[in-house]
Amino acid sequence: MLVVYDEIYGDHLRGIPHAESPDRVQVVASFLRDSGKLNNLIDPRDASDAEITRVHSAEYLETVKRETQALHSHAAYLSTGDTVIDAHSLIVARRAAGGALSAMENAVAENQSVFALIRPPGHHAESTRGMGFCVFNNAAIAARTYLADHGGRVLIVDFDYHHGNGTQAVAGDGISYVSTHGYPAYPGTGSADENYNLGADMILNVPLPPHRFGTEPFVALWEDLLPKVAAKVKPTMLIVSAGFDYVSGDPVGDLGVERSAATDLTRLINRVAAQYCEGRAIFLLEGGYNISVLMESVARVIESVDAKETALSSAQESAIPQRERAIVQFVSELLGK
Ligand SMILES: [Zn+2]
Repeated sequence: MLVVYDEIYGDHLRGIPHAESPDRVQVVASFLRDSGKLNNLIDPRDASDAEITRVHSAEYLETVKRETQALHSHAAYLSTGDTVIDAHSLIVARRAAGGALSAMENAVAENQSVFALIRPPGHHAESTRGMGFCVFNNAAIAARTYLADHGGRVLIVDFDYHHGNGTQAVAGDGISYVSTHGYPAYPGTGSADENYNLGADMILNVPLPPHRFGTEPFVALWEDLLPKVAAKVKPTMLIVSAGFDYVSGDPVGDLGVERSAATDLTRLINRVAAQYCEGRAIFLLEGGYNISVLMESVARVIESVDAKETALSSAQESAIPQRERAIVQFVSELLGK
């Protein structure tokens, strides 16, 4: 599998105690290299100001530039909210958004899937503010740039533990967004009340109980939902907000889901990408704060893409609890119309 990675991704928040640490990509990259899974490496480019402002306001971009330049050896909160930055954050975040763009461009050129091992993550970042651990919204920038360059339709699949409020906010005009997430949990958005336009440009949230949801229900829910969503949207590009903080043992998220789910989810993505997108999906790293979980989950994605696996899991629809099944059935009926 093509993998986008750059050592520079370790430079953001280096030496600062923070869950979103350089180890998240550096240790994972070393592990992948040692296990022979980093042989098809792509050097990321930078996202330009023009590409970043396809999603973010020029004022917000200036704020990030000004506030990172003012920092030297210490870290501080970005003035727009709860995002910790240091002197390197602009350079790294620009390269992370550029990594998403490099992934997208290579996926288009090669008709294959690409993993972007990037940080900081992006799905909480909104037009005018960084949020959570996110500075620029990598998935949204890749989606808007793809549409500007190629037309078509983008489906963003977000299985990170958290709701991607920033990505949801850019949906429309060719971008659809579907997410499962713990609820209530940070950032507080993503209730089923926010679902709308279950047609070509849909926003579809399936809030899950914040803990102990379980592996089989999680996999079964996605296997039931995603093919229906894809049949309605008919995407030409899949962008996966690949956060692995849904896995058991994650210190920030944890839906009580086993590590093996990454294989089942990737097989599902492979099926949908083959059916609608000429085999193209880009996986952009979002959350995931247990390094061991992260190593295994990313390796599972790469193995499954390399083997072109498409098998259905053994997860049974009957394993989905009543409350979530009601949401899925309601959505299915709407999508069927
Ligand atoms: Zn997350």
